[in-house]
Amino acid sequence: KTDLLYVKNMVTAFRTANGEVSAVRGISFSVKKGETLCVVGESGCGKSITSLSVMGLLPSNGSIKEGSIEFDGNDLVAYSPEQLRKIRGKDMSMIFQEPMTALNPVLTIGYQLREPLMLHKQIGKSEATKQGIDLLKQVGIPYPEKRMKQYPHELSGGMRQRVMIAIALACSPKLLIADEPTTALDVTIQAQILDLIQDAKEQYGMGVMMITHDMGVVAEVADRVMVMYAGEKIEEGNVESIFENPQHPYTKGLLNSVPNLDDPDFELEAIPGSLPNIDEQISGCRFHPRCPYAMDRCKSETPPEYIVAGEHKVKCWLQEADEDVCTTRETVHS
Ligand code: SF4
Ligand code: MG
Repeated sequence: KTDLLYVKNMVTAFRTANGEVSAVRGISFSVKKGETLCVVGESGCGKSITSLSVMGLLPSNGSIKEGSIEFDGNDLVAYSPEQLRKIRGKDMSMIFQEPMTALNPVLTIGYQLREPLMLHKQIGKSEATKQGIDLLKQVGIPYPEKRMKQYPHELSGGMRQRVMIAIALACSPKLLIADEPTTALDVTIQAQILDLIQDAKEQYGMGVMMITHDMGVVAEVADRVMVMYAGEKIEEGNVESIFENPQHPYTKGLLNSVPNLDDPDFELEAIPGSLPNIDEQISGCRFHPRCPYAMDRCKSETPPEYIVAGEHKVKCWLQEADEDVCTTRETVHS
């Protein structure tokens, strides 16, 4: 499979009252056509900022300082806001945890569904209405004709989330970025929404970047997993390899914490301590203040990325210190 999205050494920083702080500290990853990459980590680790960087939707005090975002052969970092607008909603779409922030409360569902269709497919209003109704049917919304005339507040949370997915999938995007798309929903609706995304992925080879803190969701939908901590990628691999042979102490902690699907505020209790603030200076491994295995060198030296096996990579000094967990000592040079 070829790379649809290839992000290389991306640094995203924000201007704050205390000066410039980096929320994403030089991460590289890819999403291939027809695969789901799950990005996991605690809230505040940089997962959402990573996806907003890719979409060109950073708040005005944020910007990409370094690196490249290759999408479908073009570097999005070099794109103008106008060029980004042209591909957003067409070639790449995003869905969020809270559909009310993405849906416009004063416009009908029909208007919001027709808009991307008319803009990107250059079709007229009546054809867009027809396709809009079909899309609502596809996402399992009963009485779609009636729904087209309603406003977001007239729909339940689960319905709104389906509408948002219908809008995101309207133009059959090559890439879908889903940021905690099911966190606020009950388990049944959560499963239906995940199925919808999986269907679109399988039907036309859409690439999916799914941001979640729920390892249950990861187990269900991921082909590959990227674990982030404090603005860095600390482990990456295919889903089997991450679940069966996790290497980073933080990943092990994530897997030990039992996800409670009913609790949107679920915390990773298995890992004591909390994420550092993004402006906090931490030398060496950024996880060392919380790591039960921290060694002296961890406090001063940043670990390189080691290849565990195949595509499985980890950033942790234990790869050298502990023969038991060390499959190979090869490091990644990029
Ligand atoms: Fe823990 Fe050291 Fe590995 Fe960091 S490099 S995760 S502190 S053992
Ligand atoms: Mg977030």
